[in-house]
Amino acid sequence: MIKKSREKSVRLLTLEAAIRRVPPEHPKYHLIEKEHGKLHYGFIGEKALDYFLTFLPNKNTQLLHGLRIEDPLNRFFQMDTLLITPGYGLILDSKYVSGALEFDQTTNHLIRRRGEEREKFGDPLSQIERQKYQFTLWLDKHNFPPLPIGGQIVLTHSNATLINATPSLMKKVTFHTNLPNKLQAIDNQKFQPLLDNPTYKKLSKVLIKKHTPDEFSIFNHFGIHYHELRKGVFCPACAHLPMSQKHGGWICRNCGVYSKTAHLKDLMDYKLLVGNTITNKMIRDFFLLPSPNVASYLLSSMSLPAKGTHKGRKYLLDHFQYNPK
Ligand SMILES: [Zn+2]
Repeated sequence: MIKKSREKSVRLLTLEAAIRRVPPEHPKYHLIEKEHGKLHYGFIGEKALDYFLTFLPNKNTQLLHGLRIEDPLNRFFQMDTLLITPGYGLILDSKYVSGALEFDQTTNHLIRRRGEEREKFGDPLSQIERQKYQFTLWLDKHNFPPLPIGGQIVLTHSNATLINATPSLMKKVTFHTNLPNKLQAIDNQKFQPLLDNPTYKKLSKVLIKKHTPDEFSIFNHFGIHYHELRKGVFCPACAHLPMSQKHGGWICRNCGVYSKTAHLKDLMDYKLLVGNTITNKMIRDFFLLPSPNVASYLLSSMSLPAKGTHKGRKYLLDHFQYNPK
């Protein structure tokens, strides 16, 4: 059963907003694209796991996706997928990389070979060992029994092949299509249940409570300034920027579409890129509104919580979410 569903990370959502809002000719744009590509394909890889995770051998298994928690030494770690049963835990790390892959036996690095060319994709074997260790420390700190924790690297690209797949390596690495067999083999080891039913339920509750989403600022990370962002409301139909205000809604001068709610996605861009509070002046600037009255009307139409009065009034976006499906 899924206890925490898979969602895009704040970092990925922020980079998506940055792709829309940073002009393509900006000298840092290619770095944003590169980082976005890495996370975007990472997310595709994680999602590729989901179908195979419906073949769980133990129907009582709890699944937690994208959990980010802090070990007792204040080091955060994020697990793509965590499986918990009353007898053991298993961390899955997905790698969405195509081509002829190899785990370098001395450095542990994941390498893609193309002729003589070698491209590195991090060190997932060491990373998963670190996560196993950190999760063990976490369980101890929160007074849970010492569950044995396993780890598996799952290659999720359908065009991935593995060179030098030794039996010892294949204990730690699998292809996503083989994941059900791997999970069955692990479950067949018949671990002694260490968690009674109330403790088992409590564990996932505490994990979800302790989940801390990553924070990410493109201003700090890439050295981009607010004034460099593209302002205005995007047309939801043709992506033209900016739409114009008309009768309390938005009209696109390019394709003629009229929308009452086009600004919600842009307010989400603002939250991800700029911050969790907005004032009348800031909304005028970001949405290119013609007057304080239009800005007031728009702000009150969204019933956002606020604090302060008059010009110092700040609207709070902490709980504002916009995820069109
Ligand atoms: Zn349009």
